[in-house]
Amino acid sequence: MTRIRKIAFEEHFTAEGFQHYAKSFMQHMDPASVACLASRLSDFDDIRLGEMNAAGVDIAVLSQSGPGVQGEEDPARAIAQASRNNDFLARQVERHPTRYRGFATLSMHDPAAAVAELERAVVGLGFKGCLVNGHTQGRYYDDRAYDVFWERLQELEVPMYLHPADPLVQPLACQGHPELAGAAWGWGVETGTHALRLLFGGVFDRFPGVTLILGHMGEGLPFQRWRLDSRFAVYSHGIALQRRPSEYIGTNIVITTSGVCSPGALAGAIAEMGPEAVMFSVDYPYESSLIAADFIEQAPLDDATRALVCHGNAERLFKL
Ligand code: MN
Repeated sequence: MTRIRKIAFEEHFTAEGFQHYAKSFMQHMDPASVACLASRLSDFDDIRLGEMNAAGVDIAVLSQSGPGVQGEEDPARAIAQASRNNDFLARQVERHPTRYRGFATLSMHDPAAAVAELERAVVGLGFKGCLVNGHTQGRYYDDRAYDVFWERLQELEVPMYLHPADPLVQPLACQGHPELAGAAWGWGVETGTHALRLLFGGVFDRFPGVTLILGHMGEGLPFQRWRLDSRFAVYSHGIALQRRPSEYIGTNIVITTSGVCSPGALAGAIAEMGPEAVMFSVDYPYESSLIAADFIEQAPLDDATRALVCHGNAERLFKL
């Protein structure tokens, strides 16, 4: 079977010394699944490349699996771990330079340290941006202390992938419902809300060149664009934005199809945001590369749109 060329970039690994951060969600899986995931997360050769080949994934931009250093309480240790992770990833990319690229892991505990490590990873190690697993100990990045970070991200012309994680405190609506609190629903609410904090907090007005990537078909945002405009016009609470809220979603905020292999949702997201704002990804190894590949190849898209979603948009975004 001939596959369409794909670039995927919510593709995770775990470096030695990072496994314990993932206990918060791994503990709810059965031991056989955890063992299977662990062997795929730590592999950079036959298993990973075999699955990429079978699915037609030509290039994978790799990132540390969540929550990574966002789950580290000690700021000094988080900074050291981020740097260790990025050196480790650079060595793996070097071993398979045509197949892998890297997203930096960043400790966001200290904005200045995040800037320094971002710069080292992008300029020094050739990484394509960063992937951050949500808030840091309840701190969100619309906080003006992070303006130095967004400024540098804009100057380096690389994106941030904002990846889900647990909120510091579960919202009341999820309490007593652990099946909702995590990946099935709660992560999307937490991450979509974080992205909206950046939008309404004016990050994209202050730094219009910033690109934020959301996975999981945009964590619900594509489907609320109209309502965000309509209700913000009534309830602005004195907040002033340079553009309508919807206009940032599809320009500054772009999305991947990771973990949502639904033709209807894909069609809706493209209709809302345009074909240049939607990009293929898998969420390896938590999702199936083959299911994701079959989905995107069979979805009712014209050839030009499918080529953009599978690889063209990613080539432009990452300058590949
Ligand atoms: Mn993921």
